[in-house]
Amino acid sequence: MTFHHFIDGQAVSAANGRFGDVYNPATGEIAGQVPFAGPEQVGQAVAAAEAALPKWAATPPIQRARVMFRFKALIEAHMDELAETVSAEHGKTLEDARGSITRGVEVVEFACGIPHLLKGEFTEAVGTGVDSYSMRQPVGVCAGITPFNFPAMVPMWMFPIAIACGNTFVLKPSERDPSCPLRLARLLQEAGCPDGVLNVVNGDKEAVDALLTDPRVAAVSFVGSTPIAEYVYATASAHGKRAQALGGAKNHMVVMPDADLDQATDALMGAAYGSAGERCMAVSVAVAVGDAAEPLIKKLAPRVQGLKIGPYTDSAAEMGPLVTRQALDRVKALVDSGVEQGAELIVDGRGETLQGYENGYFMGGCLFDKVEPEMEIYKQEIFGPVLSVVRAADYDSALDLVVKNPYGNGTAIFTRDGDAARDFASRANIGMVGVNVPIPVPVAYHSFGGWK
Ligand code: NAD
Repeated sequence: MTFHHFIDGQAVSAANGRFGDVYNPATGEIAGQVPFAGPEQVGQAVAAAEAALPKWAATPPIQRARVMFRFKALIEAHMDELAETVSAEHGKTLEDARGSITRGVEVVEFACGIPHLLKGEFTEAVGTGVDSYSMRQPVGVCAGITPFNFPAMVPMWMFPIAIACGNTFVLKPSERDPSCPLRLARLLQEAGCPDGVLNVVNGDKEAVDALLTDPRVAAVSFVGSTPIAEYVYATASAHGKRAQALGGAKNHMVVMPDADLDQATDALMGAAYGSAGERCMAVSVAVAVGDAAEPLIKKLAPRVQGLKIGPYTDSAAEMGPLVTRQALDRVKALVDSGVEQGAELIVDGRGETLQGYENGYFMGGCLFDKVEPEMEIYKQEIFGPVLSVVRAADYDSALDLVVKNPYGNGTAIFTRDGDAARDFASRANIGMVGVNVPIPVPVAYHSFGGWK
C-alpha cells in the first residue's frame, strides 16, 4: 500500500521520492510506504490552509459546531474500521485502540459546544461611560505534530478544537502509523468541513522543520519525546509562533503500606503493561513504601508472568508487540542494563516469542525489584512493558523521588489515608495526580498536561 498526503481536500502523491516503511508490528512485514513531504509539499498544505482561513474564520461558530456533531457521528459509525487501522500499524489490542478513539471523540464532543465556549467577556462601566469587552478570534493557520503511540487520540486533542475555533490546520502525524489520521481527515471532509481547513502531510524532520519555519503558520502544537519537544518549542518560538510541546514521561505510582494491595496490583498491571507500556501516562516506576514491597512483588510477579501477548486479531491478547524492531531492541537493551547494574529481574520477558509470529516485535512483561535512582532503567523513559519497583523507607522519601524526578507528566498514590493523599496531591510537582487511580488522565473539559 502506498500512502499519500491530504491537501486541500485531495489525496496528493509523493513529490520528491522520499518514503518511509510502515510495518505490521505483529509480523514484522512491511505494510506500506508513506511519502515524506519536503518543504515544497508542506508549503502547498500551508497555502491551502491559508486560503481556506478567511471564509472558515468568518463561518458562524454554530455552523462550525454542526460539522463537529456530524464528525462525531461519523467516527462512531466507523469505530471498528478506525480501531483496526490503529491496531494494525501500532500493534495495540483492539480494545485499547477503541478506548483511545473514544477519548478523541470526547474532544470532538467538547468542540461541539464551541459557540458557548467562544463567548467573550463584557464589563459595563470599567470607567464612567466606558464599557470593555473581549472577543475570541482564530489565531490563523495552526500546525500539529503528533507521536506514534496515539495516532487517533492525540491528533484529535488538537485539530477539532483549533478548527471549531475558526482556525485552519496542517497535521503532521507520526510516520509509523499514518492510516488513521488520514481516514479522520476524510471523515471530517464528509462531515462538511470545507477543503483546505484540515490538511495532512506525512513525513519526518524535514516536514516538521518546514512547518516550524513557515511564516504563515501562527501556532504549533507538538506531542512526542522530550528532546524533540524541546527542539520544536525552541524552533517554533524562535520563529515567532505560539507553541506548546508535550514531552516524555517517567510516571511513579507510590504504594503506601495501608493501600489495598489487590487494587494497587490490578492498577499496576493495566498502567505498566497496557499498550505494551507505550503510553506517556504509563506507570513505569512503582515506589513501594515500607512493608508494601514484599507483598506487592508477590502479587505482581505471577500476573506479569501470565500476561498474554498476541496480535490484535487475537481477542484474548492482553498486550501486543512493540511498534518497531528498533523499539524492541532498545527496550531489551535497557532491561539488559538493569540486570548489569544490579537490579533484581523478577520476571524476564526478553526471550518471549509467539508461534507463527517469530518476526513480530513481541516481548513479555518484565518486572524489576530493588531499582535504584542511579540506574539507566530508572533514569530513562523505557516506553516498553517494563515495571521497576523502587523501595522507599517512608512517605517522605517516596515523595522526594517524585519531586526530584525531571519528568512530571503523571503520578499516583495508592493509600487509604486521606492526609497522605491530600498532601501528595498538593506537593507532587506533577501535572496530573491520581489518588487510587493509576492513570489520572483528565477528560476533555479539563486540561491535560505535564510539569517540569
Ligand atoms: P517522537 O518524538 O519520536 O516523534 C513525535 C513526532 O515528532 C513525530 O511526528 C515525528 O515524525 C516527529 N519527529 C521525530 N524526530 C524529529 C526530529 N528530529 N525533528 C523534528 N520532528 C521529529 O515520539 P514518538 O516516538 O512518536 O512518541 C513517543 C513519545 O511521545 C514518548 O516519549 C511519549 O512519552 C511521548 N508522548 C507524550 C505525550 C504527552 O501528552 N506528554 C503523549 C503521547 C506521547
